[in-house]
Amino acid sequence: ILEVQNLRKSFGDHEVLRDINLTVTRGEVLSIIGRSGSGKSTLLRGLNLLEPPTGGKVLFHGDDIQADKFDLEHYRAKVGMVFQNFNLFNNLTVLDNIVVPQMSVLKRSQADAKAHAMEVLSQLNMDPFVNAKPAQLSGGQKQRVAIARAEAMDPEVLLFDEPTSALDPEMVDDVLNAMTDLAKTGLTMIVVTHEMQFARDVSDKVLFMNEGIVAEEGTPDQVFGNPQEEVTRDFLKRYL
Ligand code: ATP
Ligand code: MG
Repeated sequence: ILEVQNLRKSFGDHEVLRDINLTVTRGEVLSIIGRSGSGKSTLLRGLNLLEPPTGGKVLFHGDDIQADKFDLEHYRAKVGMVFQNFNLFNNLTVLDNIVVPQMSVLKRSQADAKAHAMEVLSQLNMDPFVNAKPAQLSGGQKQRVAIARAEAMDPEVLLFDEPTSALDPEMVDDVLNAMTDLAKTGLTMIVVTHEMQFARDVSDKVLFMNEGIVAEEGTPDQVFGNPQEEVTRDFLKRYL
């Protein structure tokens, strides 16, 4: 569904991504782990062109997302993103945070968008908060709204950039459980995370990034149970 070929990204003469290759198939959950500064967020932002790469290609169903004729608006609707800091519209209610993007991007009617929003909110146990503003919610609740908003767009792929790292510890499990449920629905997910237990239990594939390259990848059992590279072992020692 998504393929990255020889992706590169430099900021000035600082090369942050150096030749990244990866493939994600439908229904797969890919976790990306690695030290701070290894380029994980830059890679995710490259995948939806929030940060255009300086080299290489991203293919969505085989189509080059940087081609002139590629429908980037459609792509952005199909490949959603959940951020560390939620990125909710603070002046809108919880419900409108989820209704407005469906209407503006997917051209859904207000009634359809609302019905769809209520469905995803209740799956995430957020239906009691429909009329609240984000400022009235805890971090874990805000992140569940952000997940509901992404889910309401009926994405084919969801990208998560450290969705739990801004949360108080007691809220982390709520969000990880919501993500685990999503994974079980068969949604394709790419998750940048420092939650090693989640990466180990929920993902189909784990990719360890180091200094802008994929230093190691494999199944969770391979990467966590039998890492081949010294850098991976060093990294994991600090987490396991
Ligand atoms: P973390 O775990 O801390 O989130 P990360 O793996 O996500 O780290 P990135 O945010 O991708 O790392 O950053 C990789 C490198 O790219 C860092 O050295 C960072 O300073 C640099 N970088 C990222 N964005 C920019 C930018 N817009 N301009 C210049 N340098 C940047
Ligand atoms: Mg990051």
